[in-house]
Amino acid sequence: MEGGKIKSALVTGGAGFIGRHLCKHLLDKGFRVVCVDNLITGSLANIDEFKGHPDFEFLNQNVAEHISCSGKIDYVLHFASPASPADYLKYPIPTLKVGSLGTHNALGLAKDKGAVFMLASTSEVYGDPLVHPQPESYWGNVNPIGPRGVYDEAKRFAEAITMAYHRQHRMDTKIVRIFNTFGPYMRLNDGRAVPNFIWQALNGRPLTVFGDGSQTRSFCYISDLVDGIFRLMLSSVNEPVNLGNSEELPILEFARKIIALTGSRSSIVFRKLPQDDPKNRRPDLAKARKLLKWEPKVSLEEGLNLTVEWFKSEIKRA
Ligand code: NAD
Ligand code: UDP
Repeated sequence: MEGGKIKSALVTGGAGFIGRHLCKHLLDKGFRVVCVDNLITGSLANIDEFKGHPDFEFLNQNVAEHISCSGKIDYVLHFASPASPADYLKYPIPTLKVGSLGTHNALGLAKDKGAVFMLASTSEVYGDPLVHPQPESYWGNVNPIGPRGVYDEAKRFAEAITMAYHRQHRMDTKIVRIFNTFGPYMRLNDGRAVPNFIWQALNGRPLTVFGDGSQTRSFCYISDLVDGIFRLMLSSVNEPVNLGNSEELPILEFARKIIALTGSRSSIVFRKLPQDDPKNRRPDLAKARKLLKWEPKVSLEEGLNLTVEWFKSEIKRA
C-alpha cells in the first residue's frame, strides 16, 4: 500500500519455485498479484493456496509469445525461465525464447503500463568465472555454443535489452543476479543438486556427485533471496545486483552434509561432470550490502533443515 492505493505486481514464472515465494510475499505485503505462467517447469500446486484470494489472479500464458493483462500494473517482475540445468538442457529453444522474446514482451508490457521492471538474471552470466568471488563488475567467461549457452546467453541478452530500455525509454529497471537458491516448493525431480541430494538421501539412494565434487557453490535460502528482491524492487537502484549467500563449499562436502542432516545411510556415487559446469561460484555481496542494506540471515544448516522437512511431507503426500 502506498498513499492508500493498492499496488499491483505482475510476476512471470509465478508458479515456479522462486515465483511462488515472490507471489506469497507480495500478497502478504498487501499487493494485488497477477501470476503469469505456462507451467513448463512450474505447477499449479505451487499456487494452490492463493486460489480464491481476492487479490490473486493466474493467467496461463507463454510470455515468449505475448503477455496480455488488463488493468493497472505497477511492477513487472520477469522470473519466467527454466532454471535447472536439467530443465534448460531439455528445453533449449524455449529457454532461449523466454530469455529473449519473453524479456522483450515483459519490458514492452512494463513500458505500456508505466511499471517498474525487474529481470531475474543469474550468476550464470559469469559463466565459468575467472574472477573469484564474482563482483557485478566482472563480465564473465561464457561458452556461447556449449549446452549451457542457451541459458547463459539468453540471460545476457535479457540484461542487455533491459539496460537498453532503461537508457532509451528511461524506464525504471532492476536486474537481480541470483546465485544458487533453495527451499520448499523446488520440484522434487528438477535435477538441481539440492532436490536431487535430499530426495536421494531420504529414499536411501546413492547421492550422485558430478565430477570429483571439488567444484564449489554457495547456497542461499529462499526467504533471504525474497527479502533482497523486495528491497531491490522498492529501491532506486538500476544497476545489476548480486543476491545469494557467500558460504561456499565443495559439492562433495555438500552431499556429505545432506547425508548427515537427514541421518541417511545413503552412499555417494560419482558421475560424469556436465560440460562447462562452473568450477567455483560465490557472490561478492558488497553491493547488495551497501545499496540494499541486505545480508543473508539463514544459515545453510537452518535452511536445509526447513527444506528437508518440506521434502519429507511432499514425499509422504505423493
Ligand atoms: P522454476 O523452473 O521453478 O520456475 C520458472 C517458472 O517459469 C516456471 O513456473 C515455468 O513454468 C515458468 N516459465 C518458463 N518459461 C515460461 C514461459 N515461456 N512463459 C510463462 N512461464 C514460463 O525456476 P526458479 O528456480 O523458480 O527460477 C525462477 C527465475 O529465477 C528464473 O528466471 C531463473 O533463471 C532465475 N534464477 C533462479 C536461480 C535459483 O537458484 N533458483 C538462480 C539464478 C536465477
Ligand atoms: N550436481 C551434482 N549432482 C547432482 C546435481 C548437481 O554433483 O545430482 C552438481 C552440479 O554439477 C554443480 C552443482 O552440483 O556443480 C550445482 O548444480 P545445480 O544443478 O544445483 O546448479 P548449477 O549451479 O550448476 O546451476
